[in-house]
Amino acid sequence: MANPDPNPAAARQYDLPYAVLLFAIAVLVVGFAIDRQGLLAGSPGWGTAVFFVAYGLFTITVGFPHPGFGHVSFDRVAQIASLLVLGPVDAAWINGVASLIYPWHRLRSGTPLRTVLTASLHNAGLMSLAILGCGQAYVMLGGPVPPVDLNLRTVGLLLFLMLAMQVVNDLGMMVLFRMRRVSPSKVLNIFTTGLELSSGLVAILVALAWVNFDGPFFVLLLLVLSLGMLALKNYAVIRIRLEALVDERTEELRLKSIELERQATHDKLTGLYNRRYADDYLQREIENAHRYGREFTIALADIDHFKSINDRFSHAVGDRVLARIAEILVSRCRKTDMVARYGGEEFLICFPDTSTEFAEQICSQIRLAVEEANWSGIHPGIPEAIDITISFGIAEIGDDSRRTTVLSEADTRLYKAKHGGRNRVVV
Ligand code: GH3
Ligand code: MG
Ligand code: MG
Repeated sequence: MANPDPNPAAARQYDLPYAVLLFAIAVLVVGFAIDRQGLLAGSPGWGTAVFFVAYGLFTITVGFPHPGFGHVSFDRVAQIASLLVLGPVDAAWINGVASLIYPWHRLRSGTPLRTVLTASLHNAGLMSLAILGCGQAYVMLGGPVPPVDLNLRTVGLLLFLMLAMQVVNDLGMMVLFRMRRVSPSKVLNIFTTGLELSSGLVAILVALAWVNFDGPFFVLLLLVLSLGMLALKNYAVIRIRLEALVDERTEELRLKSIELERQATHDKLTGLYNRRYADDYLQREIENAHRYGREFTIALADIDHFKSINDRFSHAVGDRVLARIAEILVSRCRKTDMVARYGGEEFLICFPDTSTEFAEQICSQIRLAVEEANWSGIHPGIPEAIDITISFGIAEIGDDSRRTTVLSEADTRLYKAKHGGRNRVVV
């Protein structure tokens, strides 16, 4: 049976009332059937009942958490085997008891009481109704209990029983999934259906062995089958762990490659784009601007007398100043502008779709912001208030100007700004 994963919180408030209702109906229906037929009417007695409760618990326990399908287990083996040995009425309550007991161990791992209670009542109710309903249909159609010899008719009826159990179980799970607004495709899939159908075949084998084999042979067969289930469970658990590991490593690699990509295009100290990225960007955007007839303006900015900041204070102070100026640049530019650290204390700003007048306005605002910034708090190595200024050279692309042309024009104007007394914007 594929049980939904016990924990997602959404849309769960009707789970418990629904489980209580299902369980109450099951108690009434199975109780009525026991009343008519008697408890363990045609069976070998309480020892058998206890054995099948224990076997039912074992087959649920060897289930495993499947990431796609919730909890997958082999309980169909015990259900159909007990049905074929004891008949539908006793199999219904016996497997109901096993399903009722099983979920309670989850309390120890911190699962909330409400979740455990819901799983217990829902699974017990659904399983006992499914076994009773499908089992009665099987018996009414002439299905033998126990199936002493196999002929074509018996095999057909056994297949009918397996499919009926599968359909009722899936319908029951679908109701629950729909209530939780989870896609029912999680219940109806080839993996669980295949597993449960093959569990049905194993169940028939167990029932046949029960009828036809002596004690030791039966025990041996049961042992082999149980070991098979355990092996399958372990295989599944290992596979799930490996898949989780692969997912984890893939995610690590993805993050790593994002980081490498970032390192290749960004400057470490300021977090701005680096020169390599800026050159590629400029090349590309100038071509676009030419093709679509758009304006494109760039600005080269250079910190004034930066060498003296390093000399007077320290290289570390110089680094902090660079980082702070980068912040000011980014905060004053638009998201569509591209800001890069183009050299040691030199920056390139690209303004797509922007006139030189507007670019000049932005650069003037930046110039003022740098001039008025409070530098005393940026590093403990600055003992006094310092004046820091920045100069700009602005250039616009001409009709056929290339990257190098526009850069050298901007550089010429920056040179003019420096010679004109620094702390200014030259267009
Ligand atoms: P100007 O006003 O003419 O631009 O003078 P300047 O001192 O700013 O220019 P110059 O080219 O003489 O000096 C630039 C200095 O920038 C020299 C170099 O040590 C410093 N520098 C370059 N990269 C870094 C860096 O990453 N960190 C620090 N702290 N200093 C740097
Ligand atoms: Mg400088
Ligand atoms: Mg310089």
